[in-house]
Amino acid sequence: MYNLPADFINEQKVWDTLEANKNAGFEKIMEVLAKARLMKGLDLEDVAVLTGISHPELLAKLFCAANEVKETIYGKRLVLFAPLYISNLCANECLYCAFRATNKDIVRNSLSQGHIAREVEVLIKQGHKRILMVAGESYPNQGFQYVLNSIKTIYNVKTEHGEIRRVNVNIAPLSTEEFGQLKDAGIGTYQIFQETYHRETYGKVHQGGKKCDYNWRIFSLHRAMEAGIDDVGIGVLFGLFDYRFEILAMMQHIFELEEKFGIGPHTISVPRLEPATNSDIASRPPFPVSDIDFRKIVAIIRLAVPYTGIIMSTRETAKMRRETFALGVSQISAGSRTNPGGYGEGTEDDPSGQFSLGDHRSLDEVIRDVASMGYIPSFCTACYRIGRTGQDFMDLAKPGDIKLHCGPNALSSFKEYLQNFASPATAENGNKLIRETIAGMNGIARLRAEKLVQRVEEGLDDVYC
Ligand code: SAM
Ligand code: SF4
Repeated sequence: MYNLPADFINEQKVWDTLEANKNAGFEKIMEVLAKARLMKGLDLEDVAVLTGISHPELLAKLFCAANEVKETIYGKRLVLFAPLYISNLCANECLYCAFRATNKDIVRNSLSQGHIAREVEVLIKQGHKRILMVAGESYPNQGFQYVLNSIKTIYNVKTEHGEIRRVNVNIAPLSTEEFGQLKDAGIGTYQIFQETYHRETYGKVHQGGKKCDYNWRIFSLHRAMEAGIDDVGIGVLFGLFDYRFEILAMMQHIFELEEKFGIGPHTISVPRLEPATNSDIASRPPFPVSDIDFRKIVAIIRLAVPYTGIIMSTRETAKMRRETFALGVSQISAGSRTNPGGYGEGTEDDPSGQFSLGDHRSLDEVIRDVASMGYIPSFCTACYRIGRTGQDFMDLAKPGDIKLHCGPNALSSFKEYLQNFASPATAENGNKLIRETIAGMNGIARLRAEKLVQRVEEGLDDVYC
């Protein structure tokens, strides 16, 4: 199935829409921003109008609208996670990635289950509750079973400091049957980035291995959804091609999933090309995305798909990460390593990592910083654990309902972190923020928050509503 051309990525339509809307005037732009504030999403033309904005005053208006939508839907919550690279073995030849098959200058490593468990223990001890499991596309000894075993290993690590409560995965596309097994293994979100939606560029930067097949990749989320995985994540590797084209093509992908399966992606990631060992293209991106355009991308996505989470990784600097929280980012990684085994024994600038990192701070430092900006770091995994996924999650994802659940849950999971893992300085800042946040709440949300936080103070872990 799905061997047909992916007609829903209609390149001509993307170019035509961009061309027709590139010089939209002030009134048209304000009309689109007013529509965006209704938080019902935007169509292709609207998105094209926003990609054409370049005047600083209009950009400021775009950022302001994105901030309003972000605050209304998500409040001040920021979900935290850590990537866990289990293997950098790869049969593909992606020109931008250090893990590509012909790169001889990195140390190859596929972690044993014991080693994965040790890495997980390190992350648990730091206070993490959510892991994004990542791997190259080659599992030489046990095949796909290696992936399944690794998920099981992660969930089975129970320590005096707690456990991992949600495993998301970012691995190469699978068959429908394998996706079914992935679902049964209890994953949270299945993530896959198309890298570039532009077919010609896709062909140029993927020069060997199964990943050369654009169709196999673009239809992977159809297969995942058919297999019952209803939380899926998408993304573009920005820098490979014109970002305007990529945003519109990604919207076409989203519309296709909504039309076929009644639900779009749970998250969108916005990786920007970073230097990688022996990769020219990663050091000199063919379509470099400036910092201002990067902020614009985040703001446009926030307005176009208001209820979809936006993930910002440690590829970006602390400064850029800070700036994008206000524009729509809702999930961040912290204290990351991109080399397998990197948490136990690696260094953050290990050349065997997948790419260079922009933010080298520890989880505790990131949390202190985020809290000092008034954001509530959240380790909540409630929705996934009680089955509020896919459409059920989207039904909940209305500002009022989110306030009743996510707000109190974020506070109790943050309190748990502060009590069990934080440095004294972070605990002091964080506890003050929790008190101030609860003081600013009212009604049922406040009662719930007070009760949940109190239960954590009494020594209970993992409390949520
Ligand atoms: N190997 C699988 C795949 O390619 O789908 C799974 C994950 S791959 C390790 C994770 C993502 O890292 C890729 O989808 C790509 O977008 C990103 N990536 C690769 N090289 C990068 C680079 N130089 N800078 C930033 N992100 C990069
Ligand atoms: Fe392999 Fe993924 Fe890197 Fe491509 S991006 S070389 S598939 S790990």
